[in-house]
Amino acid sequence: MGKVIDGKAIAGVLQEKMKAQTAYFSMQFGRKPSLAVIMVGEDPASAVYVRNKIRACEAVGINSQSYKLPQDTEASYLIDLIDKLNKDSATDGILVQLPLPSHLDAKKLIPLISSKKDVDGFSAKNIGALMLDDRTGLYSCTPLGIIQLIKSTGINIAGKHAVVVGRSNEVGKPVAMMLLQNHATVTICHSKTESLGDYTRMADILVVAVGKEKLITADMVKEGAVVIDVGINRNAEGKLCGDVDFESVLPKCGFITPVPGGVGPMTIAMLMANTLKAAKRNVQ
Ligand code: NDP
Repeated sequence: MGKVIDGKAIAGVLQEKMKAQTAYFSMQFGRKPSLAVIMVGEDPASAVYVRNKIRACEAVGINSQSYKLPQDTEASYLIDLIDKLNKDSATDGILVQLPLPSHLDAKKLIPLISSKKDVDGFSAKNIGALMLDDRTGLYSCTPLGIIQLIKSTGINIAGKHAVVVGRSNEVGKPVAMMLLQNHATVTICHSKTESLGDYTRMADILVVAVGKEKLITADMVKEGAVVIDVGINRNAEGKLCGDVDFESVLPKCGFITPVPGGVGPMTIAMLMANTLKAAKRNVQ
């Protein structure tokens, strides 16, 4: 029987440790580390994510500046706001909650965030830092959390075969690169991959970031594998679920993350860690 990786508990421990660091920062510099969170429109899922991020800031001792902008906000307004926050020395991190309404182009707007304040790690400069193994960069939060969850199992990533399903710029690609940094042999699968199960069955570490309920079933998983389920879906009963058929995979795998309570809380903990890292650099 596999063990469930309690992402919520692991994130809680990390946030507790960060509390001491943010308190020390505040004492040294006379202010808390500060994160600007920009949300445009009323997307209900985004509203939940933003609320959780702001709550985490409160718990860790980070100041949150919340910008809730109307659905019809013009690009020029957002450009000015990002510019103002880039220049504000008391703002350490800037986050624009995605997705943006269709009239706003995230591909044009996100790169306007200073790479030093890009706590989501989405800028070309920060993605480049990851590719170049430059640890001063701010790396993408979800992949950072995934690596910590894998390490929490006690397995040594070096030499293992890691299979990543999904190749997005936010999750699939950066987590593959981080697994490589940790000396795994990495295979990346995507929607055009033929016979997906032939690859996933070879995985010592299986990371699934697709957004399709029950894409991964027990017959697609190697005995004893570490399974990290990134997906967030709603099933027919309206309950949150991942991409992995949890009930059938649990008895076969070595370790598995639940949805909810696995990768999600770790993503937020890593956002807090990135804000603290950006704040320390901002005051240097
Ligand atoms: P994207 O939609 O950007 O990417 C999905 C990827 O899955 C694509 O690379 C796509 O391939 C691939 N894919 C689609 N269908 C299949 C298939 N049948 N077989 C194999 N691969 C397939 O999603 P994200 O990476 O942004 O997010 C993935 C999931 O993770 C979502 O459910 C999202 O909500 C969740 N998520 C959770 C987070 C958390 O904190 N828990 C954070 C971020 C995301 P192709 O490139 O060929 O189209």
